[in-house]
Amino acid sequence: MSDSYSLLILPGDGIGPEVMAEVVKIVDWFGANRGMSFDVSHDLVGGSAYDRHGVPLADETMARAQAVDAVLLGAVGGPKYDDLDFSVKPERGLLRLRKEMDLFANLRPAQCFDALADFSSLKREVVAGLDILIVRELTSGVYFGEPRGIHADDNGDNEGGRVGINTQRYTSGEIRRVARAAFELAMRRGNKVCSMEKANVMESGILWREEVQWVHDNEYPDVELSHMYADNGAMQLVRNPRQFDVIVTDNLFGDILSDAAAMLTGSLGMLPSASLGAPMANGRPKALYEPVHGSAPDIAGQGKANPIACILSFAMALRYSFDQGEAAAELERAVERVLADGVRTADLMGPEGGTPVSTSQMGDRIVAALAAG
Ligand code: NAD
Repeated sequence: MSDSYSLLILPGDGIGPEVMAEVVKIVDWFGANRGMSFDVSHDLVGGSAYDRHGVPLADETMARAQAVDAVLLGAVGGPKYDDLDFSVKPERGLLRLRKEMDLFANLRPAQCFDALADFSSLKREVVAGLDILIVRELTSGVYFGEPRGIHADDNGDNEGGRVGINTQRYTSGEIRRVARAAFELAMRRGNKVCSMEKANVMESGILWREEVQWVHDNEYPDVELSHMYADNGAMQLVRNPRQFDVIVTDNLFGDILSDAAAMLTGSLGMLPSASLGAPMANGRPKALYEPVHGSAPDIAGQGKANPIACILSFAMALRYSFDQGEAAAELERAVERVLADGVRTADLMGPEGGTPVSTSQMGDRIVAALAAG
């Protein structure tokens, strides 16, 4: 692999362009100072794409996304688009990207920076230094399984006369590919995977457990693997989250567990994510990186947004798409130092105070911390 990377930047709507402008400063810094060459292109997604093209993701943008090493997205949506037909809503642009790139592994790190440990709803001693990664299967399971629907159910003793159906369905192939992603990720971190399901009450859970174990035994015997029922997993996440390194779980449980884990770390403005697909011809996985937060229309255009979630999403791109783990760690350390110095966007301002900064000042501070080494 060369040190040259193609990156498609889709700022989107609301605070998306504001936070992405700060990421661009970071990309430029790594380009100028760490011998990496980025081929960066910009395009539209969400409401901004709808305004220009009448669709939330143009075909040309989709084709570009398929061709680059990594896509970095800001956020989509906003009140201006609330009344649009479902088929052209801003979120459909994001869903199209995920679906057509077949991004089956959703990565949500929960990392607690020391300086922000008091923002967690849990005690400092439980979360300080926390660094876990939840890998959620994203393209199958009960959100997609057939049959589904709401039907009449005239069985005499059914008050209301209807039935709602969703189907939890997983193939062994779907489980094996997300398990492989989790084991690969664990090897770059703490070398531990905990797989969560409900094998005690669900056949799909039994299959999940068996297939994850199969991938482990046949392909990753040196990674430590444990299994846990997802309800116990939820409890353990709030009791002692630091026991985990990588958690791999299905779409439904992952949806819930990753939101719970997110709150261990405090602010929405701090949470990055990645969605990965199958490896491309160059060995890099199809990949989309984005902050967990939305377009925050309530603060858009005011310089109040915290760009760190988007900046940490780029750190994930460095680590998982570009194999630049040291550069990713360098960026994370720079963020940590700026926070330790008490530099705060409004969302991070706690009772102990700090130095209030705007979105772009936060970006500048992080660049300065990188430069200071
Ligand atoms: P939101 O995440 O945009 O905002 C929730 C709250 O968190 C708001 O008070 C907001 O000001 C604050 N916040 C969010 N990001 C922040 C940041 N970086 N810095 C400081 N504060 C931040 O969620 P919402 O208000 O429910 O949704 C707003 C719009 O975003 C909707 O149109 C929704 O559909 C869309 N949305 C998009 C995505 C996405 O693009 N992936 C995700 C969630 C919501």
